[in-house]
Amino acid sequence: MRIETDPLAVQREALARRARGQRVGFVPTMGFLHDGHASLFDQARPDCDWLVASIYVNPLQFGPTEDLAQYPRDPDGDAARCAAHGVDLLFMPPLLYDADHSTQVRVDGLTDGLCGRDRPTHFQGVTTVVARLFGLVQPHIAVFGEKDYQQLAVIRRMVRDLAMPIDVRGGPLVRDHDGLALSSRNAYLSPDLRRRALSLHRALFAMQAACASGETDVSALLALGHGLIDSDGFDYLEIRDATDLRPLTAVTGPARAFTAARYGRTRLIDNVSLAAPTAEAG
Ligand code: AMP
Repeated sequence: MRIETDPLAVQREALARRARGQRVGFVPTMGFLHDGHASLFDQARPDCDWLVASIYVNPLQFGPTEDLAQYPRDPDGDAARCAAHGVDLLFMPPLLYDADHSTQVRVDGLTDGLCGRDRPTHFQGVTTVVARLFGLVQPHIAVFGEKDYQQLAVIRRMVRDLAMPIDVRGGPLVRDHDGLALSSRNAYLSPDLRRRALSLHRALFAMQAACASGETDVSALLALGHGLIDSDGFDYLEIRDATDLRPLTAVTGPARAFTAARYGRTRLIDNVSLAAPTAEAG
């Protein structure tokens, strides 16, 4: 595995490989890698000739009071994990934007609710950096985790709307041994906060089980979830359509339950799929 810090060197190599007929795979990250990130490398690996992972803690997607300066970093551990999972090039740019960078990419609608409500500039920062990374890495395939389900939907929409010839794939959310969704931010949690944070996925799974047993009324499912979540501050618990993220009043097709909650100063997110029982199984 090679490590590259120069954005234009990555683009030159990507264009040369594409010209030779190679398929380029890409997994963008902010580093402090864990098994969730590694699962995305594993998913991309068989379908590309050249697999690029990037590590860039993107200032544009952090709000003024968020954890940009404290975001955890482990470049050596990250490089070892990338190499162990078949990454060919690890792109770690110290700077990604030109000093006079002046283009923003904004996806409307899908970014209004859920994380977009509490983090109003977040998704514009994500789509702006991902569009630039796509321009540099020139991927045929890009893999994003369902951990950030809204982000995945937003990236798919950007790629469709801007006619980018990229196959955007989603990777399943990977959990720790105790069920907590793996996240670089879990490093901030004390043992007590972590124990309380387990209520997040327990609530979501209880809602999933209730839905599978026939409770399709969204208010009833949300009441069940609210009763189970123990947090220091609650951003949202919502049920939305799994494809276009529109709010639902009843689960009649593929749906998703989403939550974000605070534990101390750490904000965690999680989501699960919801499906009502089929008529035949009924
Ligand atoms: P991040 O480094 O947090 O920006 O995440 C980089 C990519 O890894 C995003 O596509 C995330 O959705 C994905 N990711 C992060 N945590 C997980 C997880 N627990 N399971 C699956 N994908 C994840």
